[in-house]
Amino acid sequence: MFSTVDVAVVGAGLSGLVSAYRLHRAGAEVVVLEAKDRVGGRLLTSSTRAGVAVDCGGSWVGSRHKAVLALLGEFEIDLVPQFTDGLNLLRVRGRIHRYRGDVPRLRLHEMLDLARAQWLLDRMATRLGSPPWSGGFAAKLDERSLGAWMRRHVRTTAALLVLKMVTAASFGCRPEELSLLAFAAHVHGCGGLADLVGVHDGALANRIAGGAGTLPTHLARRLGDRVRLDHPIVEIHRSPDRVTLISRTHQPVHARRVIVAVDPATADSIAHHPPLPVERAELQRRWQMGTGIKAHVIYQRPWWRDHGLTGATVTDTGFVRLTFDVSPAGAGAGVLTTFLGPAIADDPELLQPDSAPRRRRRVLDDLAELLGPDAQHAEDYIEQDWTDEPWQSGCVPRVPTGVLHTGYPWLTRPVGPVHWAGAESSHIGEAHMDGAVRAGQRAADEVLATLATVARA
Ligand SMILES: Cc1cc2nc3c(=O)[nH]c(=O)nc-3n(C[C@H](O)[C@H](O)[C@H](O)COP(=O)(O)OP(=O)(O)OC[C@H]3O[C@@H](n4cnc5c(N)ncnc54)[C@H](O)[C@@H]3O)c2cc1C
Repeated sequence: MFSTVDVAVVGAGLSGLVSAYRLHRAGAEVVVLEAKDRVGGRLLTSSTRAGVAVDCGGSWVGSRHKAVLALLGEFEIDLVPQFTDGLNLLRVRGRIHRYRGDVPRLRLHEMLDLARAQWLLDRMATRLGSPPWSGGFAAKLDERSLGAWMRRHVRTTAALLVLKMVTAASFGCRPEELSLLAFAAHVHGCGGLADLVGVHDGALANRIAGGAGTLPTHLARRLGDRVRLDHPIVEIHRSPDRVTLISRTHQPVHARRVIVAVDPATADSIAHHPPLPVERAELQRRWQMGTGIKAHVIYQRPWWRDHGLTGATVTDTGFVRLTFDVSPAGAGAGVLTTFLGPAIADDPELLQPDSAPRRRRRVLDDLAELLGPDAQHAEDYIEQDWTDEPWQSGCVPRVPTGVLHTGYPWLTRPVGPVHWAGAESSHIGEAHMDGAVRAGQRAADEVLATLATVARA
């Protein structure tokens, strides 16, 4: 069954499943080949001992994320608004600033410095145009890192901290490791810096009821046995009108078109015959993904809310550097999440796989110092290390200088019958679930157009 199909999709992450679902609904014969024993890729919802769903991968959906919102609407999946009724904490040089809303209340000169940096970065993103990689301005931005730009334009410790945390949370890296063009293009695709980090109407406005993993599960259910798990693709052989996909464990799959729905760094582990054009090969070879651990601490109830706190914190010292309240809707468990990564942790030793017990201890100690002694009374602790996850190169892209300006067009340019999806290939909502959906739909439409052309010829 399925040994020759219209379209094979490599990867059952959100993007690949969306592609396959669109193709299937358009009447194409499709098969999805997934390396792991589960669907969802970077969307992974786990359950605590008490049955509370926590998102170990992607989680938040913003109000501008129209493509993913439409899909959630189609499947009648609800959103949970991010809890905001209280004070956020920002700790800089031992001083704690409490504030409501998205803009930290700092000293006047620090607020002005931060506002100026935001204005300059937003203006840069707006000037990029569409697509954001074209033109001399993009080439100029790609010559230096965000860190180099910050050293020149940002003066206060507080503003530097906020930008460092935005980079760690959104790209899993230090500002020095990220191309200024990559940062500006991401801000461009999010509709502004405030939107990228905002809870009120921004990218962090909502979570998916029951966990983000419900979305790929719904899609996979509709595709039924067209989704094949434990089916890693290691080689793609192509001719002008046909591909053969090779795995070490199964018979070859023949298709008229293939959509590779993985990020460029992960795609680099698939060998192509004949080899890919040098520009696409170079893009894959140089692309990087930021890594880190997403941890959840589960309490009987969200006790920090009793102290008037939202559970959202950012701090310039410690192992835990930022937290969010991701408690389920209604009365019940309280859940705090944090991102632990080499870009921000003060004790990188604790990120080693064999440091898990010491890491958990340190997370609780840091939370107690930030939010109060009740933090020590955790009922459960769940973490996911994306550095170690098979068939993934990391969490979110952290593209260094000199890659995007020339490589960006090759994120989407088909190579004969080989098409590309994956969140990283969308220039709107790139690296978010929204980008994954848009890229999946775009790749499916491309393929449908080529299949129609072939059928007419
Ligand atoms: C910790 C973390 C936090 C995040 N937070 C958010 C957030 O709050 N909001 C948001 O919108 N986004 C967030 N994201 C990003 C979001 O999860 C991703 O953009 C999106 O899920 C990517 O989907 P995808 O289908 O493009 O790729 P993936 O999910 O990476 O799917 C690719 C699939 O391909 C499979 N695969 C790889 N190689 C092969 C092969 N050779 N053969 C067969 N199969 C293969 C993989 O196993 C995987 O299942 C986060 C991600 C992480 C990791």
